[in-house]
Amino acid sequence: MSGSREATGLDHDGGRAPSDGAWQAQSDPLLDGGGEGVLGQVYEAAGPYLDSLADRPVSDPATAPLLRDLSGDLPDKGEGAAAAVRRLLRVGTGAATHSAGPRFFHFVIGGATPAALAGDWTASLLDQNAAFRVSSTLATEVETIALGWLRELFGLPEGYGGALVASATFANFTSLGAATHWWGERHGADVAADGLAGLPRMPVLSSGYVHASSRKALQMLGHGRESVEVFARDPIGRIDLAAMERRLAELGGPAVIIANAGEVNAGDFDPVADLADLAERYGAWLHVDGAFGLFAALSPRTAGLVAGIERADSIACDGHKWLNVPYESGFAFLRDPTRLAVAFGMQSAAYLPAPDDPRGGYALLGPESSRRARSLPIWATLAAYGRSGYQAMVERHLDLAQHLAALVDAAPELERLADVPLCIVCFRVRPPGVPEEELDDLNRKVGAALLADGRVFAGTTVYGGRVALRPAIVNWRTTESDINVFVEIVRSLIP
Ligand SMILES: *Cc1c(COP(=O)(O)O)cnc(C)c1O
Repeated sequence: MSGSREATGLDHDGGRAPSDGAWQAQSDPLLDGGGEGVLGQVYEAAGPYLDSLADRPVSDPATAPLLRDLSGDLPDKGEGAAAAVRRLLRVGTGAATHSAGPRFFHFVIGGATPAALAGDWTASLLDQNAAFRVSSTLATEVETIALGWLRELFGLPEGYGGALVASATFANFTSLGAATHWWGERHGADVAADGLAGLPRMPVLSSGYVHASSRKALQMLGHGRESVEVFARDPIGRIDLAAMERRLAELGGPAVIIANAGEVNAGDFDPVADLADLAERYGAWLHVDGAFGLFAALSPRTAGLVAGIERADSIACDGHKWLNVPYESGFAFLRDPTRLAVAFGMQSAAYLPAPDDPRGGYALLGPESSRRARSLPIWATLAAYGRSGYQAMVERHLDLAQHLAALVDAAPELERLADVPLCIVCFRVRPPGVPEEELDDLNRKVGAALLADGRVFAGTTVYGGRVALRPAIVNWRTTESDINVFVEIVRSLIP
């Protein structure tokens, strides 16, 4: 040790290196073994936990007190890796929301396929920074492969390119960020350099199906969430195409149209092809929010719902929903992927580096700089199950949604409120004899009782002015018996 210091001259830099005594005064647990054996603890906990998901409750209220075992002051002297990780696993496997299991129908939340979970562990193991080619050629190359496979999976034409991002919110942000740059260019401005100063407000047009995350993206981009002009012909939010067209004609300049491919209340779709026609006729940018609905493209039974997406300028989708990849996983596709570089490139980095330039990478093509190798779980799950594996899963979910709709239709105290084009069934509790004006309250109560019970999860919404439940089926583990259990439990909770 001291020999190597002498060799590198470290002993001669003005005595700044602490003496051997000072090093010993502070024990350094990380250099003292660190406890890498704890990975075995995670592995050992994983099997029983994953096995338990099939029929454990989504949430067990009795486990809430467990969380106290993780609180307290920051320890001075740590308890060591083995004890800390044992505690985390005990509390975590008990008190988590077991949304990775087959009976979680709230929001639109997928689980994690075995291959995706293993790919995600691999991403943590390798701890790559997927920012630049020079920080990880592996992560950069696998991201390009994964994006190419996703493009093929959804049948998008060659030429579409994109970036992996943390979520569909970030995919909407990335897409609308590229759209903002395009729109600024049409006004002779470089928004990446100069922002929105001096520009008029960017017109954004959508139906009543527009998702809160698109508004949030517009909010983050400086347009404001209220920038969206909604053209709806009914309280459900279905698009009023004629009114939107009149507005585009009146605007006479560049605008952004958001098409919603898969809305969250009933899984309905804006007519993407009609909106592509409008975008072409009026020179607008067409963005498609297909967070989960893009998966309609995987089955010939539902592909018609997304007809026209191949004419979109940008498309947002999630990996952590129907692809069943662990959080955080989303992606954005651009018809002209060079737009990502102009909107998200950094000044201090090469602006448009050549593909093999070590300074190049996905940090210049999306909102994040340092980023994890989120391509690895996507690559693993697509390599493992392939196109036909995903088609089979999507079609199973389509069948399960129809099965759920049939159970609802057959139950005298349940009322379906919408068609079921995809994987969401919107219905309400309506026992015979209960007057209409009491139904919203009743459904809110049943929704709250469902979450408090915890065996299955589904959320409520307001659909066309009526409070309703809207279970969404996107978890690879879900089978018919889970749907049957869900309906039984809902019926049992009606007061
Ligand atoms: C879930 C969802 C989003 C937002 O996705 P996050 O992954 O939660 O950011 C956006 N649009 C639609 C239609 C969604 O269903």
